[in-house]
Amino acid sequence: MTKIIKTVSEWQQLKRSDKIKNKKIGFVPTMGALHEGHLSLIRRSNVENGISVVSIFVNPTQFNDPSDLEKYPRTFESDVKLLRDLNVDYLFYPDYSEIYADHFKYKIIESDLSQILCGKFRPGHFEGVLTVVMKLLNIIRPDKAYFGEKDYQQYLLIDEMCKAFFLNVAIILCPIVREADGLALSSRNMLLSSNEKILAQRFPQLLKSEKSCEIIKNELEKLSFKVDYIEEIGNRRFGAVHIGKVRLIDNVEI
Ligand code: AMP
Repeated sequence: MTKIIKTVSEWQQLKRSDKIKNKKIGFVPTMGALHEGHLSLIRRSNVENGISVVSIFVNPTQFNDPSDLEKYPRTFESDVKLLRDLNVDYLFYPDYSEIYADHFKYKIIESDLSQILCGKFRPGHFEGVLTVVMKLLNIIRPDKAYFGEKDYQQYLLIDEMCKAFFLNVAIILCPIVREADGLALSSRNMLLSSNEKILAQRFPQLLKSEKSCEIIKNELEKLSFKVDYIEEIGNRRFGAVHIGKVRLIDNVEI
């Protein structure tokens, strides 16, 4: 039975109890509206640890666009059911005030990788992400924390942050889970109309094609996507696009 924990002190008390004290803790931070992508991280945590903790917290400080935050899908009841089906031990489900007692006066700022790709198009986004992840890791104090390759830039920043601040946690990267048509699963996919969903398939298809970034960008624009960027860094091609009001990101190894 998944126990729902709302406060930091409740978790800290539990963590000292005999039930948890000597067990390895795996942690999967999420913003809810859970799908198979999230579940793949949770299954891996279950296999590799004695205790799994999942958090659901729609972190307002990482949303640069207030309307994106407002329409972000929230499906708490079905999320809890999925967690119970997977036998997750603990769901950490804090309120805003529990996480941001400081009103976001203290922030983690990274000055390099956070400025490109999504960082360039979503000012302040990674400050919000890194700050909340730092807080969550300091609260839960897991042995391992699981992140998806879909948000590869986010993974790199979190991994580097943990090293920079000597956090005693292993950051585990998990592969992208996709629909049969290639679209990377995302909570935001729920916001696509059925026509938009069909169009969305073209994004991963083009991203993994042999074509140049420039040609991919042009073809996506012809198909009515608004393209933030299609860019190659190292052996990876990254993309971010908008379909109507929904922003999608993806990346592929090249
Ligand atoms: P989110 O709830 O979108 O903040 O995502 C929580 C975690 O799940 C992040 O580490 C994401 O990278 C990961 N995730 C989201 N979608 C996928 C996916 N399709 N495949 C693998 N991991 C994912």
